[in-house]
Amino acid sequence: MDHLNELLASRSHSRSDIAFLLGLSCPDAALSLESAALKSTLARMGPGVSTRGLIEFSNLCTCNCLYCGIRRANQGVQRYWLDEDEVLENALWCAEAGYGSVVLQAGERRDPAFIDYLTRCVTRIRKESVSATLPQGLGITLSVGEQSPETYQRWFDAGAHRYLLRIESANPRLFSAIHPPEQQWSRRVRCLESLKAIGWQLGTGVLIGLPGQTLDDLAGDILFFRELDCDMIGMGPWLATPDTPMQGQDRLSRAELLRRALNMIAVTRLLLPDVNIASTTALEALSPRGRELGLRAGANVIMPNVTSPRVRALYQLYPDKPGLNQDRGESRASLEALLASCGREPRWNQWGDSLHARRH
Ligand code: SAH
Repeated sequence: MDHLNELLASRSHSRSDIAFLLGLSCPDAALSLESAALKSTLARMGPGVSTRGLIEFSNLCTCNCLYCGIRRANQGVQRYWLDEDEVLENALWCAEAGYGSVVLQAGERRDPAFIDYLTRCVTRIRKESVSATLPQGLGITLSVGEQSPETYQRWFDAGAHRYLLRIESANPRLFSAIHPPEQQWSRRVRCLESLKAIGWQLGTGVLIGLPGQTLDDLAGDILFFRELDCDMIGMGPWLATPDTPMQGQDRLSRAELLRRALNMIAVTRLLLPDVNIASTTALEALSPRGRELGLRAGANVIMPNVTSPRVRALYQLYPDKPGLNQDRGESRASLEALLASCGREPRWNQWGDSLHARRH
């Protein structure tokens, strides 16, 4: 325990220190880790939790990631694409509800029609969401994969300012094992660098609990986040999805996977005290209390799903996706209750940029 307390108080951690912390499994030790991370979060950022309405606007995808339920080869998926007006409706609902920002997420496409469509969505959301409570309109995060620098620039100029692109694993060998050969780790890194050069607030993240992934790999992931100087982290457990090539390859129990994911949040918080860390939906797929546990381990962002319920079940990256039938208003109320139950407060009507981003 002395060694643990020393590590928790330390300001400089070696890769093996990080791996040691990530591997903590006895309840007392894991609780000490989470408490240290929560303390750091509250000290820097106070009890406020930023909210973003998540709009999953299309499950059409040109990629074949081996873990993902909406991969191109998955013929069983009914494909959808929300039209501009429906995306706008979802976004404007968020503005009304007090979510000061939205995340537009979809499968990956790079064709001109898609690029134009998303440009128009971003332009209209920024313009039409302006109000007395949101004088600059909604903040907009995009999460639509690898694109050319020109496309990233275009969407940035249209008024989006945060981009989420997970590296999935900072270990190139592990990345290759979970993607087809045409998807390359080095290209993803170039995309991240290009986003940063343009001026986007940059978010990345990884899948936790992948086959063959070691604690040392996860330690490398956290060092990668730091090296990249990213502003936000969205990471979560890998959930083995039926009808994907990785079906049946999971080796950790749900409890072990949850522990590992929470430890990842906590250690990331200790090493990167001023970034935004999301408590992701995938955590909730593992445990009904998943999002709360994420907040207790150092997360400070929550992204409730506000996608039209009509299509929500079609965006199934992984099984047991929570909130499929939950009404948007109910989910807002349950979010408030959840935050109150753990002594946290929603930060309504704010973009909620990370302290890290505001420092630049
Ligand atoms: N096309 C976009 C966004 C959609 S996927 C992009 O590639 O960035 C968003 C994230 O969902 C992925 O980065 C991946 O980390 C996660 N994901 C996909 N399949 C998953 C699974 N089976 N379990 C857990 N997370 C998964």
